[in-house]
Amino acid sequence: MHVIIVGAGLAGLACARMLERWKVDITIIEAADGVGGRVRSDYADGYIFDRGFQVVFDTYPAVLRQLDLAALDLHAFAPGAIICLPGKQVVLTDPLRDPAWADRLAATLAGSISPLDKLRTLQLATELRLQTVDEMLAGPDETSYDFLKRRGFSDRIIDLFFRPFYGGVLFDRTLATSAKCLRFDFKMLAEGRACLPAAGMGAISAQLAAPLLERGLVHLNTRVADLLHREARVAGVRLANGQELFADAVVVATPAPEAARLSGLPMPTEERGTVTLYYSGDEPLYQGPKLLLNPLPDAFINNAQLLTNVVPAYAPPGKHLLSATVIGIPALNDDELFRQGLRDLHRMVAGNMLAQAALASYQPLRLYRIPFAQFGQPPGLHPQLPDNRSGRAGLYFAGEFTEASSLNAAMISGEKCAANIAEDLAGYGV
Ligand SMILES: Cc1cc2nc3c(=O)[nH]c(=O)nc-3n(C[C@H](O)[C@H](O)[C@H](O)COP(=O)(O)OP(=O)(O)OC[C@H]3O[C@@H](n4cnc5c(N)ncnc54)[C@H](O)[C@@H]3O)c2cc1C
Repeated sequence: MHVIIVGAGLAGLACARMLERWKVDITIIEAADGVGGRVRSDYADGYIFDRGFQVVFDTYPAVLRQLDLAALDLHAFAPGAIICLPGKQVVLTDPLRDPAWADRLAATLAGSISPLDKLRTLQLATELRLQTVDEMLAGPDETSYDFLKRRGFSDRIIDLFFRPFYGGVLFDRTLATSAKCLRFDFKMLAEGRACLPAAGMGAISAQLAAPLLERGLVHLNTRVADLLHREARVAGVRLANGQELFADAVVVATPAPEAARLSGLPMPTEERGTVTLYYSGDEPLYQGPKLLLNPLPDAFINNAQLLTNVVPAYAPPGKHLLSATVIGIPALNDDELFRQGLRDLHRMVAGNMLAQAALASYQPLRLYRIPFAQFGQPPGLHPQLPDNRSGRAGLYFAGEFTEASSLNAAMISGEKCAANIAEDLAGYGV
């Protein structure tokens, strides 16, 4: 029994790990020069650069099943965020975990977030904590904005917090994304923490891939050009160099557009792109492992985070690493992206003399343009996503595109795909 897996992102790796455990022969074909797909880090001059700012929730169910979290040495962001209003920054804490919440609430009565919105946040967090993931995702769908309005949240908290926060998570400040995504992420945050591994996000992929690489099962720098058919069955792959490989089953674990090209089947292809800008400075821009959110309607930077406040090892001693997230990919060259980013960062910390002075030392280091960071997830999309079984004999899918756009969903997809293959090929003695 031999299975070819096309793509060594988290979905392909999770699928491979399970099949390997069940003693299936596997070959993993990866086009890039390393494993991890969208979850990779670069290491240069003492800095860790994740290929796009992202976090892992330590409550993600598949993460708990698939990863050794202690070995990843996770460091957490503090709950809540710093909201950057014109001329002042407001610290929003988590009412479930902050003992000083009531005092802080009194301090925010002056106009930022209303007590009613705070209470609705608390109510939603408590409710979601009591539901299982399946219960929470059941029922009719709606946009995140309609959901928040139906729950009685004011437009003020939606604009100040939910738009920039979920804008950063789902690359959509309009909140037109399915409320199921918002509820799921809200539950994960209510129950756990948003974290970075001590060695960068790429350490997640490296950990999953380690036993597979050790056994020589992953072929890097090798692109699959086409699928091969024998009568109605998918029987292998043709590589870009013309070589043909045959197997009992093929798993396409690429991003959705490539899965659509290879299989000819419909996939969710609406892309959500982003740019991550990295700057390094001599002084911390602010204290504590928090996110800075930009709620202004003309925001260029949606959110920014001093990664070294979370994991000091993201920069060499004496340096501080800031990443700033732009939603979408503006048609600007690198210099202009960095310049506009820095201008918006100055606006975000306006009124804070210390932060303004610190920001003066920040220099552009590196940027990543990521056209297909996630796929668009409008209400009603999830039940229509492709199945792990393609409907064609011998062809399976593993990838976020069968579940939802997240690390957790990608790994779940890999797990389900492996289980489907094992079931279908049980006759082979798997
Ligand atoms: C900037 C950014 C921020 C994000 N933020 C978060 C977050 O905070 N939390 C979260 O949970 N998720 C986040 N995500 C989403 C998450 O990273 C993805 O959902 C997940 O990594 C997708 O995994 P995958 O295995 O499905 O696909 P991929 O990671 O895209 O892996 C597919 C692999 O297939 C390979 N491939 C493609 N074509 C071929 C071919 N023809 N032949 C061989 N190999 C091929 C690719 O090189 C790649 O390695 C973010 C993503 C990005 C980019």
